[in-house]
Amino acid sequence: MAREVHFENDCLRYEHQYNHRHHDHLICLECGASVEFFNSEIEKLQNLIAQEYGFEIVDHNRELFGYCSECRKRRGKEEL
Ligand SMILES: [Zn+2]
Ligand SMILES: [Zn+2]
Repeated sequence: MAREVHFENDCLRYEHQYNHRHHDHLICLECGASVEFFNSEIEKLQNLIAQEYGFEIVDHNRELFGYCSECRKRRGKEEL
């Protein structure tokens, strides 16, 4: 799972280590499926937001709620 990536920049190296501790999640409201995802753009962006507010993020837990592809397919068929 660990990618061998070497960053020049301290900030990025910190983020790299931090990133290994968590994933964000997509959670299906219908079947309860939880899909882990990681998006470095989102992580970078939230660090920028924290900086703007003089805030140091030590942890976060992102859960995005909706319907997974399987449930969406099923719902789509039921509607036909
Ligand atoms: Zn995250
Ligand atoms: Zn589902």
